[in-house]
Amino acid sequence: MVRAKTAVGVDLGGSNVRAAVIDQDGKVLSVFRDNLGQHNLPESVVAVVADAINRVLLVASLSIDQLVGIGIGIAAQLADNQGTVAVSPNLGWRNVAFGDLLQAALGRRVRVVNDVDAIAWGEATHGAAVGHRDVLTVFVGTGVGGGLVLNGRLYAGSSGVPAEIGHIKVRPQGAECGCGGRGCLEAYLGGVNLSRRLRKAAETDWPALRQKASGDLAHVHPGLVEELLIEKDPRAADLFEELAGMFGLVLANAVTLLNPSALVLGGTVLQGCPTLMKLSEEVLRKQSLDVTNAALKIYTAKLGDNAGIIGAGSLVMASGRKVE
Ligand SMILES: [Zn+2]
Repeated sequence: MVRAKTAVGVDLGGSNVRAAVIDQDGKVLSVFRDNLGQHNLPESVVAVVADAINRVLLVASLSIDQLVGIGIGIAAQLADNQGTVAVSPNLGWRNVAFGDLLQAALGRRVRVVNDVDAIAWGEATHGAAVGHRDVLTVFVGTGVGGGLVLNGRLYAGSSGVPAEIGHIKVRPQGAECGCGGRGCLEAYLGGVNLSRRLRKAAETDWPALRQKASGDLAHVHPGLVEELLIEKDPRAADLFEELAGMFGLVLANAVTLLNPSALVLGGTVLQGCPTLMKLSEEVLRKQSLDVTNAALKIYTAKLGDNAGIIGAGSLVMASGRKVE
């Protein structure tokens, strides 16, 4: 029987894993999602990931040998192109040979990339930026991540950590960042850090924000600032102006350096704060060259939660060969 080429794409976050069988058109044929629970030890996570992969294969009636390959996007900074995790704040890992462990569990080599790199590839090949060969993707969710497609290929850098745009410095000696540095964009704009700052403000000197969260600090999140802005809260306007100033300037510098034809913006913080996204785009347009702007189209991410699995699977499809 002749089968369409298929690959498995996996999206491994800090608390859950999604695995999918996808075909060469980026269509999701089967998908399985599981929670990591409290089991963040590398061996436990590898077992959960391997189980998720085996389950989607079972549903799609495929064996692992019929796949073109297996691609995994992981929320981590990688140490090399072999899937060794240098740091994953979300998983609490340092120096974990994740690629090797998963290969041992599956009996098959896997390709491991940063989660936003997988998303970037998914959006460039099957999402918002189809048809573009030079694409910068930036996601603002729990953290701030970036991915680069240059000349039609995912740019891997020299050690697998390009486009770490969240760690571009915006305030030398500024706020502490999860990477160990100070003054990174992510320290201000990343959802975890921004929400922490908002909770503190709601607790002390921003009663309107606390009220928005029905008095419950656990329910404070960036989307509430968008709501306050619509109600003409001056502090909400000041905060978005401050954040858009930083974010827009970083984006302007990035596109000035790279001259991409597409910028894809996504992630839960930007989804929940459309005005922040709009203001950041305005700063970006104002702070970059006219010739850079003329070539640049800005898109909102299109694939949603499927971007990571589609991207990770498509990536091995693009570079791998089918094992007969
Ligand atoms: Zn940082």
